Amino acid sequence: AKSAGGNRFELADPEADARAITRHGLTTALPTALDRGEFFIEYQPLVHLGDGGVRGAEALVRWLHPQHGVLGPDRFIPLAEHTGLIVPLGRWVLEQSVRQARDWRERHADAGPMRINVNLSPCQLTHPGLVQDTVEILERAGVDPDALCLEVTESALIGADDDLLKPLRRLAEMGVDIALDDFGTGYSNLANLRRLPVSVLKLDRSFTQSMQQFPADPVDLKIVEGIVSLAHSLNLAVTVEGVETGAQAEQLRILGCDTAQGWYYARPGPPERLHELALVDATG
Ligand code: C2E
Ligand code: CA
Ligand code: CA
Ligand code: CA
Repeated sequence: AKSAGGNRFELADPEADARAITRHGLTTALPTALDRGEFFIEYQPLVHLGDGGVRGAEALVRWLHPQHGVLGPDRFIPLAEHTGLIVPLGRWVLEQSVRQARDWRERHADAGPMRINVNLSPCQLTHPGLVQDTVEILERAGVDPDALCLEVTESALIGADDDLLKPLRRLAEMGVDIALDDFGTGYSNLANLRRLPVSVLKLDRSFTQSMQQFPADPVDLKIVEGIVSLAHSLNLAVTVEGVETGAQAEQLRILGCDTAQGWYYARPGPPERLHELALVDATG
């Protein structure tokens, strides 16, 4: 509610025309970008709020565009969804990420089982090859399904019927974790959670932002407290995103959140960075 009306100034924005032109350029370059090897993945650690240990990482895709430099996913994922490229691109991200997970598990067996979180777009959810592709990718890499967590946004699952949930159920039965991403932004019916094959709630960054002030808004505190206790009573783990300060981390830890992600711990970075963090973690 705090950032409502964020795009009200869109029309008066002098950069809007420039953005439209860029968007057109991106649309023509996107279909071949995968073949040209222009995408790469950054990994952002997921940290346990209780002991500070690194438990895994979220894979976040970037596009190294020959003219525009590094573009964030918000610039091209909507285009990729529109053009259908998201299916092969998503498969590529999954394959790379799963291999990365195997690498970490081999190199840092003593740091505990690392898990990799991969974002799924709604188009991938409805694509008939999802379960088969995922199984093959895991098998080819020799990675246990429990090393993988697929993140699906709350909005993609609002009002989801059984056909949409079936592939997610299959994956969950195999041991793949399903996380409900950006939770708290979609006004979904909380009672509906029981129906969904999810095991993790990822609390949206807007909640973390409301923990900025000290003391935090008592109503926000109550809301987060309520979500955490509901989640735990349904056996769901709670991850918070966008943690930028130690005060936020502490507040969210006290509220009972399990895992955190954000610039306070590390920005998204190359896989080598995660190797370093895992080493620090293992040696104390
Ligand atoms: P998301 O899944 O909500 O990912 C978290 C976003 O928050 C990432 O933005 C991350 O860089 C950013 N972030 C992390 N820590 C902080 C922090 O402390 N403060 C702030 N202000 N931001 C933080 P990014 O990398 O730009 O990704 C944006 C969105 O693009 C993601 O949001 C996700 O929905 C989508 N995305 C990224 N990679 C993929 C992918 O491989 N496939 C699909 N379908 N979507 C992807
Ligand atoms: Ca995510
Ligand atoms: Ca998120
Ligand atoms: Ca988000």
